[in-house]
Parts: sequence; C-alpha cells; structure tokens
Amino acid sequence: MLELKDYRTRVHNDWCPGCGDFGILNAIQMALFELKLQPHEVAIFSGIGCSGKTPHFVATYGFHTLHGRVLPIATGAKLANNALTVVAVGGDGDGYGIGAGHFVNAGRRNLDFTYVVHNNGVYGLTKGQASPTLPKGLRTKSMPAPAIIEGINPLATAISAGYTFVARSYSLDVKHLKETLKAAVLHKGSALVDVLQTCPTYNDINTKEWYAGADLSSKAPRLYKLEETGYDGNVKDPGDTNEVNQKKGQAIARSFEWGDKIPVGLFYRSQEPTYEDMIAKRLPAYKEVPLVKQDLYRRDVTPLLESLT
Ligand code: SF4
Repeated sequence: MLELKDYRTRVHNDWCPGCGDFGILNAIQMALFELKLQPHEVAIFSGIGCSGKTPHFVATYGFHTLHGRVLPIATGAKLANNALTVVAVGGDGDGYGIGAGHFVNAGRRNLDFTYVVHNNGVYGLTKGQASPTLPKGLRTKSMPAPAIIEGINPLATAISAGYTFVARSYSLDVKHLKETLKAAVLHKGSALVDVLQTCPTYNDINTKEWYAGADLSSKAPRLYKLEETGYDGNVKDPGDTNEVNQKKGQAIARSFEWGDKIPVGLFYRSQEPTYEDMIAKRLPAYKEVPLVKQDLYRRDVTPLLESLT
C-alpha cells in the first residue's frame, strides 16, 4: 500500500528556514500521493535555482537540468515515454527569464505536462537579484537600487502562448496548492501553475505578512480564491472561438489584478487536442506503444527509401 512517505527521499534539504519552497514540495508529494500515481510512473524535471533541487527530494524519476532548459528536457521525456506523468519545476527567473522562449513555445504545442513555477520575484540562489516578475520601482533588501524595468505577467503570457490550463496558487496554502496541482496533472495538455512563493531571505516585500495583508488598513488577506467569487475559467466548447476568446480575455484581465487584492485559483482551462494527439494522427502506433518501447533500430525503411528514388 502506497504511503505519503514513499514520495520522500532522504536527501538533506538545505533550503533556508521558512522558505516557501517547503510548501510547494509538500504539495507536490501530497498531490502525487492522492492521485495514486506510483513513483515509477512520474518524472520530475527542474531548471537551476533554489527550486531546481526539488527532484532531489521527491522519490520519483527526476533530472536536475540546465538553467532555463527544463521544458525542452521535459518535452523530450514526455515524447519518448508518453505513459509518464511529467512535472517540470523551476523558478520565475529560470522559466520566465532565460527560459522564456521555451516557456512560450511549449505552450504552443500543448504537450501533456505540468509546469510548476516558484514565483518569488528574485533570483534566490544567486543572492537575490530582481527576477522577471519583480514589478518596476520595487527594491528588495538584496538590491542596491529599485528595478528599472517592468515585470512580466506570466499568466497572461501563458494564456496568449497557448497553455490550456493556467492557474495560480500560494506556497503557504498547501491545501489549495495541492488541489490545484492535482487538477493540473489530470488536465490533458500543457498546464502552468504559477506559485506565489515567499523568499524570506531576499524578498522582504512579498512576505507572508504582506500576503496576509498586515499592512492594509483592513488587515484582510490579499489573496482571494477565484472559485469563491463565481468566476468560471472553463471553456465549455473549445470549437467556439467566441467563447475561447471571451474566456481568455477575462482570464488575462484578472491576471493583472495585483495590489490590495490578488486572485488565486484556476484562471483558464480548455480541453483541446494535445501535441501527442497530433503526432498520433501521423504515427498511429505512437498512442499505442511509447517510443521507448518501440523497436526503432530494426525498422524496415526500404519502402521509405524506395519512395525517394
Ligand atoms: Fe528559499 Fe529564498 Fe532561501 Fe532560496 S534564497 S532557499 S528561495 S528563502
């Protein structure tokens, strides 16, 4: 009988005390456990950064890859073995900065994987420089001067790029994050879960007290759940362009809400053909037997060569 501890490794964890990464790690392990996915059925890939250590701590297949290159490697793994549940993990600097081209083009394919981004506004592993999501004019305690360029909006970028599941959660609300991750893993297609993550060592602006609204006159939490407001990000008919555009538009508009109130939850979801579906149309065997189990070396290519003469 599978237990939660079966998803944990004994590797020493050297994240800073109080880091939001711990909440994300716990949520990933709990989501896999509750989905009853056997560890050998899952592969977790990461880029470079504090979050890049995640595969070391989850007892599934895993690969700590290169800076900004987690999505090409996750893509290759999924294409080679489409029976795997593939989860890519990275930071906002890794994925929305150096990996931005891969981030956009992965969305265009709609390959079936989940991308979990630890969004903390800084490059934590290299001492807290401004990351691509830090808004213009802000200065964390690790920066000599305020950021002079505007931060990007990852949710709006993902929706525009073609991700068919786009959600945001919070690292210190492990229950909400776990449920969001479960929905993302179950979704057939490219899923982005942008996780607001506290970095107590370098980001002294977006702290857990700030997310709790301690500085507001109302002292009310900044984060509110979209699903509790009647908001519906689900596309009912992906073939209806008007509905798709309307749902994308409302999701993008909500994703720009940032300040005294910040929405979390499912912004957009549409069930559309995946990249694997499209490959299978050309190579029917692809759906039946993963590439890793096909005998690619002893294929008779004579008909192909003859067709070229
Ligand atoms: Fe976490 Fe920040 Fe420490 Fe990295 S530097 S482990 S993100 S608290």
